[in-house]
Amino acid sequence: MSELLARHRAVMPSWLSLYYDEPIEITSGKGVRLTDADGNTYLDFFAGILTNMLGYDVAEVREAVERQLATGVVHTSTLYLLRGQVELAEKIARLSGIPDAKVFFTNSGTEANETALLLATCARGSDQVLAMRNSYHGRSYGTVAVTGNRGWKNSALSPLNVHYLHGTDRDGRAFRAMSDAEYIDACVADLRDVLATATARDVACLIAEPVQGVGGFTMPPPGLLAAYKEVLDEEGVLFVSDEVQTGWGRTGTGFWGFSEHGITPDAITFAKGLGNGLAVGGVVARGDLMDGLTANGVSTFGGNPVAMAAANATLDYVLDHDLQANAARLGPVMLDGLRPLTDAAAVGAVRGKGLMFAVDMVDPGSGAPSPELAAAVLEETRRRGLLIGKGGLRGNVLRVAPPLTVEESDVREARDILAEAVREVDARVR
Ligand code: PLP
Repeated sequence: MSELLARHRAVMPSWLSLYYDEPIEITSGKGVRLTDADGNTYLDFFAGILTNMLGYDVAEVREAVERQLATGVVHTSTLYLLRGQVELAEKIARLSGIPDAKVFFTNSGTEANETALLLATCARGSDQVLAMRNSYHGRSYGTVAVTGNRGWKNSALSPLNVHYLHGTDRDGRAFRAMSDAEYIDACVADLRDVLATATARDVACLIAEPVQGVGGFTMPPPGLLAAYKEVLDEEGVLFVSDEVQTGWGRTGTGFWGFSEHGITPDAITFAKGLGNGLAVGGVVARGDLMDGLTANGVSTFGGNPVAMAAANATLDYVLDHDLQANAARLGPVMLDGLRPLTDAAAVGAVRGKGLMFAVDMVDPGSGAPSPELAAAVLEETRRRGLLIGKGGLRGNVLRVAPPLTVEESDVREARDILAEAVREVDARVR
């Protein structure tokens, strides 16, 4: 064990996840590559944790942050006017597509979702909330409550009354045998049933990720979110789209994960990529919802000037370079290269949307999800100079989400390394 790892284990919580048998200490980054303390370089195809959506040491972001630092105004809280905050809010309100939208900035995705839940429950005067099975929305009291993934649950009492809907992970044999249309009908029937039998018909909102991130990049069949939204509208239930992983063009099918579903949420939550590594999150919501809170509000660090400088520069870069189009163009290059892996006995499925890809690792004998094989592939990709993620409800999903700035040569290199690593692990267990 390295000296730093021993010190980490001594003073940091045992439940903080660390990748790899010998965790990596990253010391620098440039473009889509990182360097560790031993001088090894890696292609980072997890973009930090979908945080560095432009990659590392991007001049436009670095210079914007340096300019802000040079003013000496590092923190003023929300008690004073901040130009960068207003400018960023204007951009996000416009991009949200929500009429009369207003924005509140936070420091993380967890806080963003907590705020959205507060807006919705206060607006409806109800603690009843719908969430999806296999979801992840954060690690606070309210957001753990709406997280439908046992790996991230704690058994504390929840401040919310949560009912879980079927969603992107077709848990259950009967669901897997259905066509998309049959599955959507079954999900909608279940939603109506939940509303009629398990609630007092005063549900505040549904919170959902258009592609479930921590859940293993699972995707709903086209039409599911629109079908849910129709029922929600009938009942006056608000829809919160958690875009912490799917925002800013990552899915390639629109600026937000929900875009391709032809729906407009009442609130959108965001974080991760916006500050290109700096802590920025927030909620953009209908103005009446945002202004509906009657209590005073302040955020000490949310919307701080340094984070705003990074976020404005990052968002401008995304738009100026049309990175959504890059995600749409390069997604198929990766996916077409990964699809042949489905003939490996240790691979259950391969899927992708834009620059989000997943490979499910399974036991070749039983077909059961195999977190061990996923971990083995991660060690192999690392050995070959590629960083990717893992996750999923059962811990067996390889997750790939590079910076949106990747070039075709990076994608081909990563795709070949990943395919080689999967084949190597597959051959070991045949
Ligand atoms: N929502 C989603 C979809 C996420 O993936 C995450 C983090 O992974 C969160 C919320 C929580 O964000 P944070 O870790 O910034 O609190």
